Amino acid sequence: MNHLSDILTHLGEEREKYFKAVSPPIIQTSNFCFKDLDDFRASFTNELTHHIYTRGNNPTVEILRKKVAALEGAEDALITASGSAAIATAVVAQLKAGDHVVCVEGAYTWTKILLTELMPRFGVSCTFVDGRDLQNIKAALQDNTVLLYLESPTSLTFDLQDLKACAELARSRGITTIADNSYASPVFQRPIEMGIDLVVHSGTKYLNGHSDVVAGVICGSQEMIQKIFETEFMTFGGIISPHDAQQFIRGLRTLELRVKRSFESALKVAQFLEKHPMVEQVSYPFLASFPQYELAKKQMDGAGGLLSVYLKADSKEKVEAFVGRIKRFLLAVSWGGHESLMMPAVGFYDVPGREDTTTPWNLVRFYIGLEDADWLIEDLEQALGIL
Ligand SMILES: *Cc1c(COP(=O)(O)O)cnc(C)c1O
Repeated sequence: MNHLSDILTHLGEEREKYFKAVSPPIIQTSNFCFKDLDDFRASFTNELTHHIYTRGNNPTVEILRKKVAALEGAEDALITASGSAAIATAVVAQLKAGDHVVCVEGAYTWTKILLTELMPRFGVSCTFVDGRDLQNIKAALQDNTVLLYLESPTSLTFDLQDLKACAELARSRGITTIADNSYASPVFQRPIEMGIDLVVHSGTKYLNGHSDVVAGVICGSQEMIQKIFETEFMTFGGIISPHDAQQFIRGLRTLELRVKRSFESALKVAQFLEKHPMVEQVSYPFLASFPQYELAKKQMDGAGGLLSVYLKADSKEKVEAFVGRIKRFLLAVSWGGHESLMMPAVGFYDVPGREDTTTPWNLVRFYIGLEDADWLIEDLEQALGIL
């Protein structure tokens, strides 16, 4: 296995090809030309490994593909225009009419919409289960189940699945497994090493890490990636631009530093919040009080910067007042960048068309970015004073 330092700093970079530039060039071209007909014909033997047209392959994107694959311990990777594009491409590639999918309950919103609204139009059905207990997954499997879709931990309540056990179960029944590894990042969790077939990411979050690029990744074996590439990837065409790919590579340089800092600070914030009298509960996988703490420690080397807090507030108005007092966290969705964020469940109450009242209104999800943890805690402490 390649050392993390080598992957982030050198792997995939062929500097002698571009004037020994330290930073790779943005090959901003849609098209490539050929020396002669022999070259033309040779290139078409495999569009994934040759340079023909940027929807298929581009040298800047290729560097990124190599790094991302190595990070996940995969043979190859594809880069997409968003995490959602990666998920949809990887999922659709496994399915045909009559197939059945088992998916974990807390999966990302648009993953669930893919499986509840889009795929049923093509004759695919899906069962959602609480994946914290392997028995629930086992019980949901049918004769026509071909895909087990996992996300561990999930990004609001941090439910874990035992990835190794899931992979073994699926493999014994000939079922393909996909895991969304956005939360932990490959620095802390490598599902392919645990037997998972495909790993997907929102590259928008930790991998790029600067809140300035939307991207996604699919990692897997040479064979699976080649198959996805030749059909779904090339037909959907949801690619990253060479410019964004270069930004993404720049983001990766500091991946290890960023996720370790984010984890260290999040743990400190979680421990502070857990002790505060106006906090009912903190959900964070690396707190000893977390119900799946043992499994978290077994399959992850660290946790992410996301945590959820249940406030001791007797009304929605109190939660709103708390949110209004916070100064050092931006009120926003998404996560994984340099900046700390908060996303209160109460923000999804009374929203026509996007209302979600299934999450308790006293839940506030925080993302801990790269700022000083004590400085963030100071802000939380003053805001909690209003409850
Ligand atoms: C954001 C997110 C996605 C979707 O990624 P986009 O890049 O926004 O399309 C998928 N999974 C998880 C866990 C996410 O947080």
